[in-house]
Order: sequence, then C-alpha cells, then structure tokens
Amino acid sequence: MREPRPLTSYRLADLLADIVDHVRPAFGKGKVAGYIPELAKVNPRKFGIAVATLDGADVAAGDADEPFSLQSVTKLFALQLALNRGGDDIWTRVGKEPSGTAFNHLAILEAEQGTPRNPFVNAGALTVTDYLMGRSGDVAKLVLEYIRASAGGISGDIDEAVAASEIATAHQNRAIAHILKVHGTIDHAPDAVVNAYCRQCAITASVRDLARAALPLAMDGFSLHSGESILAQRMVRRVNAVMMTCGMYDSTGSFAYRVGLPAKSGVGGGIVAVAPGLGSIAVWSPELDRAGNSLVGTIALELFAQNTHWSVL
Ligand code: GLN
Repeated sequence: MREPRPLTSYRLADLLADIVDHVRPAFGKGKVAGYIPELAKVNPRKFGIAVATLDGADVAAGDADEPFSLQSVTKLFALQLALNRGGDDIWTRVGKEPSGTAFNHLAILEAEQGTPRNPFVNAGALTVTDYLMGRSGDVAKLVLEYIRASAGGISGDIDEAVAASEIATAHQNRAIAHILKVHGTIDHAPDAVVNAYCRQCAITASVRDLARAALPLAMDGFSLHSGESILAQRMVRRVNAVMMTCGMYDSTGSFAYRVGLPAKSGVGGGIVAVAPGLGSIAVWSPELDRAGNSLVGTIALELFAQNTHWSVL
C-alpha cells in the first residue's frame, strides 16, 4: 500500500490553491440544477474547496466560506442521526445496495414493494426523514443541530426560500412518498414527510463548515469540537461503506474509480468526501454532470486524491 504523502498545512494550502486554478477550464461543461427554481439562481461559476485534518486545522481555497444549499449532502447527517437514535433499526426499512438509477427514480421502488435501495436515494432519504419524525417534531432543525455540533458551529442555516421553492414543485418526491406509504415503509402522512425532507435539504453551509462536520467520520466518530464520540465506531464504518457504494448515485462506481473515497453529493453542487484516519474534504461548484453530481467538484476531488494519495485505492 502506498503511504499517503505527509502534508503540512502549508503544502495543503498550496495544493488547494493549485486545484482552484486547474478546475477553471471545466466551468460551463455542466448544468446547474434547474428543477428547484430557487437553486437555479445561483452563480454557476463558484468553486470552493476545504480540508479538515485530524489536528483540528482546516485549509481552504476559492469560495470556501460562502454557504450553499446542501441538498442531498444532508442525507449523510440524517442517516447518522437515525443510527444514533435507533441503532440498526433503520435497516429494516431501507436497503444497502446501489440503485443503478437516478436519485429520484420511482419505478424501481414500486417493483421492489416500497423498500428503498439505500438511504441516499430520495426514497431512502424520505424514509430516514420519516423515521426521525417519530423522534423529533422538526427534523430539519434536528439535522441542522447535528451538523452544527459535528462542525463546532456553521455559517449556514435553513434557507426557507429554497425549501418553499422545492415544496411547491416536489411532485416526484410526493409520488415516491405515496408509494412508500402504500407499502407501509413510512409512518407519517406523505405530504408531511416531503415537507420535512425539503426543509432538511434546504440547510446551507460552506465547504469549510462541511469538511469540519464530516471529520468525525474520519476519526471513528470522535468529534474534536465536543471532545467526545458522536457516533459509535461500528456505525461510522456502516456510514462510510454505504457512502462508498451509494453516495454518488448512478455514477458511484466511476467516482470510486476516479477518486477512491467514500463521498456524498447534493444537487446544490456540494460533495463531501471522507479519508478515514486522514481527514475530510468538501467541494462546491454548482454545475452538475448527468448523474446530478458536481462536475467541477468531482474533477477537484480527483486532483486532490491524485496529489495526496488519500484514497482507498
Ligand atoms: N432535494 C433534492 C431532491 O429531492 C435533493 C436531491 C439531490 O441533492 N440529489 O430532489
């Protein structure tokens, strides 16, 4: 196995600055998510990258302190909460297999009697939100507080305009929620679950916040900020494994091939990746590839992995 290159903060800062320069030519090749009207208003040529390391330092470059819409990246934190609150209970409702289909695919859910393939496709995430609704009146707030606690504070919040914009247009997610209800996978009313899920997706944070929030996943669940474990080690292993196999939707395989790290993306253009025992990396750039993952963000993570050897490969 190759040793990861020892990086001082200084060299890391240089690398991130180089990455900002290298990704620029890829602007304009992807497309900003337009199906949530409020998200379409974002400047497409934003790019930020941040790395949090085990010593509590973070290094960043580009638009690293600008909060953006986390969208499906929040599924990573909602899953941790479900595992925290109910242990392995959630796996009685949701599978652990890659879907091989788009994140909001409906037919496969119906064919498989309302059991979502994994907690990161929308069907699975709606189920996790429903599960958390049984434990908290305001799931978006619960997830926000968990992100805050993991990161030791964040610059973002719930963007109610983005939430309202998605709720007004969430026909596909409503259809998914109804199929889930038909099969008894969710307990609450489909509309209530979709509304809670859309508010959860509307949480904002910067890449610096996000890298910090994911750092416990690189540290066996230990949070530097609270000075204690926030997630049991065996749960961290489950979360990282499911990220590795399902975190990037229908291009999880090619992402693993190119980057080789467990990661979770969102249609806001954020991706967070975890290098167990080394650190966590967050990128943001709003233009997406065909699978709905940040095109420039993926290139940046590929460059990062190539240069640091932070990779499972
Ligand atoms: N809120 C978005 C949706 O459900 C999240 C999707 C995503 O980020 N991939 O469509």
